[in-house]
Amino acid sequence: MPVPLLDTNAQNLPLEAELTAVFTRVLRSGRFILGEEVADFERECAALTGAAHAVAVSSGTDALLASLMALGIGPGDEVLCPSFTFFATAGAIHRVGAVPVFCDVCPVCFNLDVNSARARLTAKTKAIMPVHLFGQAADMDAVARLAAGNGLAVIEDAAQAFGATYQGRGCGTLGDFGCFSFFPSKNLGGFGDGGLVTSNDETRAEHLRRLRNHGMHPKYHHAEVGANFRMDALHCALLRVKLRHCADYAEGRRQNAIRYTEELAQLPGVAVADPRQCRCAEAQDQESRTRSTVLALPAAYRHNHHIWNQYTLRVLGGRRDSLRDQLVARGIGCEIYYPIPLHRQECFRRLPPHALQACPVAEQLAGEVLSIPVYPELGREQLAEVAAVIAAWVIAA
Ligand SMILES: *Cc1c(COP(=O)(O)O)cnc(C)c1O
Repeated sequence: MPVPLLDTNAQNLPLEAELTAVFTRVLRSGRFILGEEVADFERECAALTGAAHAVAVSSGTDALLASLMALGIGPGDEVLCPSFTFFATAGAIHRVGAVPVFCDVCPVCFNLDVNSARARLTAKTKAIMPVHLFGQAADMDAVARLAAGNGLAVIEDAAQAFGATYQGRGCGTLGDFGCFSFFPSKNLGGFGDGGLVTSNDETRAEHLRRLRNHGMHPKYHHAEVGANFRMDALHCALLRVKLRHCADYAEGRRQNAIRYTEELAQLPGVAVADPRQCRCAEAQDQESRTRSTVLALPAAYRHNHHIWNQYTLRVLGGRRDSLRDQLVARGIGCEIYYPIPLHRQECFRRLPPHALQACPVAEQLAGEVLSIPVYPELGREQLAEVAAVIAAWVIAA
């Protein structure tokens, strides 16, 4: 039985009648740029994330870019970010003319290692950009302490963490700006590109609203240069339909994650990542995995509400591609998020050496990770099939 990595139709087609009605509503309104649909979507997103303000923008990448612009970050500035993340995190920093300074990550939760970030601070460091990778919050208390102690702005790359929380507080509300994406593979999966910036500060949110519309305020007056970072009214209206199901989507993913762990954790050679070994918390013990461990399953910290945008395995001992080949041969979708740590990307090779210091954990993860289907509509039988193929591979390994 083939199992895709993601099945957008399984999520969207049950809503087809509602979505079609919304399309008709917007069509007949004749209003396609900003307006009530956008404002309503923003209010609903603010409520869901717990942020005071939310501004819909053209993509997650533009959410990051606009946030950096709003903070006045540019040439001569450095921004700390993890090396193990999607490219857009660092691409946005580079686009404003600042230097992304790559930091290592935690082998347990995959997120920014704040000790590594601290070691890379300089007089030029203006901001820190933690990423809540795969749907689990980064170590935000440690990030906040580092930022407060050094006068840094905090921009959360929450592209994969819409609806996730950290110690009961919403991802995207923990720094100066929170940046989300509605790319179809994200937890609130859109019908094209879209994004959101959240902020608890009204002045900052208003600034962001101006920047997304060419810095214009009032009409045809431009005190500064922004861009066209607007999200379509039609897209906002369509996503309002899916927004109501967001908690159910996250719960479906969480149930799938629990089931995978139940099915796989009992096998010899399989271990669940141990949160006590988290590098980004103060604990620095050696990892307790034994030599015979071939597979490490992902774990959620108790203090996090993990929304499981990805269920990411670590395949140890250089055997990742063998498992991937096996899954592909059986028609099971899987993907390597992400195969090349950003400090190794060709486009960054001319950055100052300070920005490109060693990130051994990021390098190791890039060679080990493999994400498997966890989307909420994944059926029990499909999940059992994926688990069975993995189990057979583990036993043979
Ligand atoms: C998806 C993603 C982005 C970019 O979002 P787009 O909407 O595709 O521009 C940024 N950062 C991370 C971590 C992402 O996963």
